[in-house]
Amino acid sequence: MVEASQEVYSSLHRRFNGDLLRPADGGFEDARLVWNGMFDRTPGLIARCGDIADVQKAVRAAAEVGILTAVRCGGHSLAGFSTCDGGLVIDLSRMRQVTIDPEARRARFAGGCLLGSIDTATQKAGLVFPSGVVSHTGASGLILGGGTGWLTRRFGLSCDNVEDFTLVTADGSVVRCNSKENLDLFWALRGGGGNFGVVTEFEVRLHPLTSVVLSEGLTPESDIRGLLECWRDFMAEAPIDLKWNIDLRLASHINKVPIEMRGQPVAGSSLIWTGNPEAARPYLQHALSMCHPDTVSSKIVSFLNLQTMADSDFPHGRRYYTKSGYFVDLDDATIDRMVEAVATIPSPETQIELAYLGGATARLGADETAFGDRSAPFILNLLANWADPSVDAGNIAWIRRLFNELRPAMKPGVYVNFMSGDEQDRVPEAYHVRWDRMMAVKAQYDPNNFFRLNQNVPPRKVGAEIP
Ligand SMILES: Cc1cc2nc3c(=O)[nH]c(=O)nc-3n(C[C@H](O)[C@H](O)[C@H](O)COP(=O)(O)OP(=O)(O)OC[C@H]3O[C@@H](n4cnc5c(N)ncnc54)[C@H](O)[C@@H]3O)c2cc1C
Repeated sequence: MVEASQEVYSSLHRRFNGDLLRPADGGFEDARLVWNGMFDRTPGLIARCGDIADVQKAVRAAAEVGILTAVRCGGHSLAGFSTCDGGLVIDLSRMRQVTIDPEARRARFAGGCLLGSIDTATQKAGLVFPSGVVSHTGASGLILGGGTGWLTRRFGLSCDNVEDFTLVTADGSVVRCNSKENLDLFWALRGGGGNFGVVTEFEVRLHPLTSVVLSEGLTPESDIRGLLECWRDFMAEAPIDLKWNIDLRLASHINKVPIEMRGQPVAGSSLIWTGNPEAARPYLQHALSMCHPDTVSSKIVSFLNLQTMADSDFPHGRRYYTKSGYFVDLDDATIDRMVEAVATIPSPETQIELAYLGGATARLGADETAFGDRSAPFILNLLANWADPSVDAGNIAWIRRLFNELRPAMKPGVYVNFMSGDEQDRVPEAYHVRWDRMMAVKAQYDPNNFFRLNQNVPPRKVGAEIP
């Protein structure tokens, strides 16, 4: 593998516009790190591309040598897919240009953008692109897997708002896809992850919004069950302006948490309202009625504040492990099991995250994008978060055990961006009835599975029946 990376380096170094970093080079140590500290890997070469021509050169050189290749935008893959030992990393972090057309409410941005760079640029025109909730997340990985966030119910998934993709495919060609060109690829990229090539540019729809109402509160352990029942019933009829996320965890030991709740199981409610603030009151009051009154706050916040307020909760370099699933309904037994589990959480930063999709997300049919079925509105993400490698096993086992207990009540399917690296066997489940079509598109654009460090879709075998 070391030799292969040297071969790629030799092929590229005279004609590469960006940076080529090898393990002995200054800057390599920082460049090799990804967000999830569980993946402490050392590539043989990091090709930090300066432009689309660099991406083409890197893909062609790597394919010729046959080196294992990872593609990186923000490096936030929970599964650690944007790095590898000994292989090549195609790093897009120098490609972060964003161009806004305020009149047309469109943006074009490059494949290395973080969410924060897009938000900052779009807000200058009073516009938003619906994306995720942590600004240091990479836009490419998030959008290609689907993309949920504060604005999902109002404006749909991130991938639903993409009009056009430009990508470099496995043979080094530049291909565009949109609602008129390369329709199968356009379908597959909206939810299909990094399987089909390196996306170098997105063209997306934007929406007017500069601030929201943000309300937060903590519910004590004794009332969590009631809160979840209320949330379950309330969200089915809630306006699309309302997003209400709940996380179950142990309360932190900070001043704003009442003394008797510190370190105890709690449910944190975070709500935003994207419409007229006056109209929000009855909904927010109802939702916050089950929170401890001393923990409740409501304020109007700028969109940029909203998008960065969780940044420090998920720092780079800690250890993370996740499992996720959908529920059509949250039955009482599922609620009971989740509530019981909170008291046994092994790390104070670990959370059971619950969100309700619906709204604009549910307007697209299951076969319209690779993301697929949107009919199960409850999305669960079990996210373990700890610092000490010596307690890896206990933290991972806690997530696996709870997931296995909850799984029988889940609808088959999983959001690929909330999967861990040990779940390749669930990828067919993620794409379900769309699996054959995914494999057919993969065979057309990446017949040798060059792009395989992802929630991998293998190319359909030659001679297999066309779906
Ligand atoms: C702190 C944090 C917060 C998150 N919040 C949300 C959230 O609010 N909503 C949500 O939906 N998800 C969220 N996620 C999950 C997130 O969507 C995925 O982790 C996503 O893969 C991150 O994208 P990235 O570009 O940073 O990842 P990377 O690690 O760079 O890449 C992830 C995958 O995408 C591929 N890829 C990256 N760039 C490209 C490209 N240009 N072309 C083709 N393939 C590419 C990679 O090869 C890899 O397989 C969050 C994750 C983290 C760590």
